[in-house]
Amino acid sequence: MKRLLTFFMTLIVLNIFTIGISNNQIALASGKKVVVIDPGHGTGGNREYELQSPDSSITKIKDGGGTQGVVTGVPEYVVTLKVAEKLKTLLEQKNYTVIMTKTQESEAPGNIERAEVGNNNNADLVIRIHCDGMDNQSMTGASMLVPAPIGYAKDISSISAQYGQTILNDLISSAGMNNRGVVQRSDLTGFNWSKVPVVLVEMGFMSNPGEDRLLSDDSYQNKLVQGLCNGIVHSLNKYELGWNQNSEGWWYCTDPDKGYYYTANNGWKYIDGQWYIFNSAGYALQSTWYTDPSNSHKYYLDSNCMRVNGEKDKPKWVNINDSYYGFNEEGQLYVNCKTPDGYNVNENGVASN
Ligand SMILES: [Zn+2]
Repeated sequence: MKRLLTFFMTLIVLNIFTIGISNNQIALASGKKVVVIDPGHGTGGNREYELQSPDSSITKIKDGGGTQGVVTGVPEYVVTLKVAEKLKTLLEQKNYTVIMTKTQESEAPGNIERAEVGNNNNADLVIRIHCDGMDNQSMTGASMLVPAPIGYAKDISSISAQYGQTILNDLISSAGMNNRGVVQRSDLTGFNWSKVPVVLVEMGFMSNPGEDRLLSDDSYQNKLVQGLCNGIVHSLNKYELGWNQNSEGWWYCTDPDKGYYYTANNGWKYIDGQWYIFNSAGYALQSTWYTDPSNSHKYYLDSNCMRVNGEKDKPKWVNINDSYYGFNEEGQLYVNCKTPDGYNVNENGVASN
C-alpha cells in the first residue's frame, strides 16, 4: 500500500513537472475540479451600470431582470436558481467543488461581480444558467453562448467554445429540445471579465407556451440538469499529459490535444526510471506475464505496472501464484539454467531447489 501510494505521488509529481504547475494541475493534485454555477438574474434586476469589458468604455445595466413565462408567469430567476441548485447537488455527488454566485432569488449581483467569483476561485468552468424570451412565441430550443476573444476572455475563448459545444450536445441528448447551436458573443459583460472558461446556457424559451411549462416542470428540470452535468464531466474529465487512470487501468498520454497515447506498437517504454509495456488498447500491463515477441523472453509486470528487474548477477526473486521466479537485470525470466545466485530453474522458470 505504501508502495502504491508512493507510485501515486510520483505520478502526480511527474504530471506537475511535465506540464508545469498550472491551476489545472493543482486541481488534479487535490483531486477536485471547481465549477462555479451562476444562476441568471434576481428579483427586480439591478439598475446600476458597469463596464461591458475591461478594454472598452461601453457601460451596460447590471441586470435587466430577465424574462418570464408566457403562460406560467414564472420569472426566469426562479427557474435558473432551481436548476442551479439541482446541478450543484449532482456535481457535488460527482466530487466537484461547486461554488454559487448567488443563492437567493432576491440577489441580483452585477455581471463583473459574478465573473469575479469564477476568477477568484480559479474555476475550471463557470456555467451561467439562463432561459430565453422572444416576441415570436413559436421559437423553441436551447443555445450555448460562449465568449468572443476580447477583454480578459482572450485566453479562454477557445476552450470555452469547446466546453460549450460538449455541454450543449449532452443537454440536447438528455432533454431532447431543438438545438440552436453555439453562439460566440462579444457583448456580454459576464464573459468579457472572465479569466476562466465560461459558458452561458439558454435552456429554452419562456416565451413559448410549451417550453415555458416544461422549464418549471420538476422532471424536465432533472433532464436538463442531467444533460448539463454529463456535459461538464465530459468537458473537464479529459485526460492529462502523462499517466491517466480509469476503470480499465493505467495509460500514458503523450499528446492530450491530439489524443495520442502509448500502445503495444510502442514496445517497451522507459518512464521515470521504470519500464512499462502497453496493450493494444493502450493500457499498461499490470500484475501479468509478458512474452516479448522480439526475443521470446518472459517478463513480469507488477501491480504498479512496473517491469520486475534484478541487478547484475543478483536476480530479483518474486513470488507469483505461490512459485518463486528469478529475473535478471534486463527483466528477463531465468529459465532452464542455474541462476547467478545458485538456484536451478526449470523451463517454466520455477526454482527447483
Ligand atoms: Zn437571462
